[in-house]
Amino acid sequence: MVKGAKINISGAFGSHYINVLPQAAHYKGEEDYAVAFATPVDAEGITYICQYTPYSAERDQVDDMEELGNPLYGQRETSMVVFDNVFVPWDRVFHCGEYQYSVKFVTRFAKTHRMTCGGTCKVGFMNQIIGACKLIQEYKGLDKATHINDQLMEMVALRETCRACGMAAAQRGAEEPKGSGVYLPDELMGNVSKLNVANAFWRIMALAGDIGAGLVVTLPSLKELKNPEVKDYVNEYLGFGSDSSAENIMKVTKLLQNWTAGLHGVGTWHGAGPIMAQKIMLQRVIDYEHEKNLVRQTLNLKEEKKGKQ
Ligand SMILES: Cc1cc2nc3c(=O)[nH]c(=O)nc-3n(C[C@H](O)[C@H](O)[C@H](O)COP(=O)(O)OP(=O)(O)OC[C@H]3O[C@@H](n4cnc5c(N)ncnc54)[C@H](O)[C@@H]3O)c2cc1C
Repeated sequence: MVKGAKINISGAFGSHYINVLPQAAHYKGEEDYAVAFATPVDAEGITYICQYTPYSAERDQVDDMEELGNPLYGQRETSMVVFDNVFVPWDRVFHCGEYQYSVKFVTRFAKTHRMTCGGTCKVGFMNQIIGACKLIQEYKGLDKATHINDQLMEMVALRETCRACGMAAAQRGAEEPKGSGVYLPDELMGNVSKLNVANAFWRIMALAGDIGAGLVVTLPSLKELKNPEVKDYVNEYLGFGSDSSAENIMKVTKLLQNWTAGLHGVGTWHGAGPIMAQKIMLQRVIDYEHEKNLVRQTLNLKEEKKGKQ
């Protein structure tokens, strides 16, 4: 029987099974928390308490999907999952009280999740943001604004660094345990991948806010394009005197609103663990010996006394 809760779970209620893993290393006396198992999502005793945000409220009210800014992909739905004495049959229990092994579950899951979800999946988010910024630049006739070109270039460089970290984590992956046929990402690069994204995403949001302008947070409703009282004003002034339609400019600006002024900043920061979690993992795998030896060789340093290395 399992009793407890986990907050912030993406889309769990939409899947077939939930895999539950330990959330940290465990120690003697914490055997009851050293568990891993799978359970059908609708097992007796499981309750989902869904997220509710201003974006959720907007979805409840809206009669035109395009007002949501991201009509094709919608938003990520999370929930808090409560287990109230949920029965798990033994054939779905993978770990039960053997606290010495909990940390292996955590690290193997974390490096994989940080390479994919925490890391490279945000490359897709960035593609959308960069595409929207480039379109806005063109729609507003700002193609020759060198600082905007420079900002777009910075966004692309950040995106490619995020992609590169994920690829490096995969390419440097290894069979673990040896002979198992299971390959897992590199611990260092998997965690660096997420750390890098966490910082790069804020910067990309800031650059997109600059290019998208104040309108990203002050945009009127798309309904105004059909409102006989104001539609001519909207078409004239939100068309920015360019050949592009106000409708396109408004739709793309709304997409930027969705990415930069909503849930994605904090979601990207905390998804796959707060940055301190990645730093703790990194501290475990970095030993600095290689770098220290380079300096010792470069400077031909004398052998150091024990305890002062
Ligand atoms: C949009 C979104 C989707 C998510 N989807 C999933 C999912 O599908 N599956 C899943 O398992 N998880 C999911 N998560 C959970 C995510 O992994 C957690 O949000 C993340 O691990 C941070 O945990 P927390 O939000 O409880 O913050 P906390 O752990 O409370 O951290 C908040 C701050 O407090 C600090 N802190 C916390 N504890 C300590 C401590 N003991 N000592 C010192 N400092 C501390 C942290 O470093 C951080 O600065 C999702 C999160 C988000 C935001």
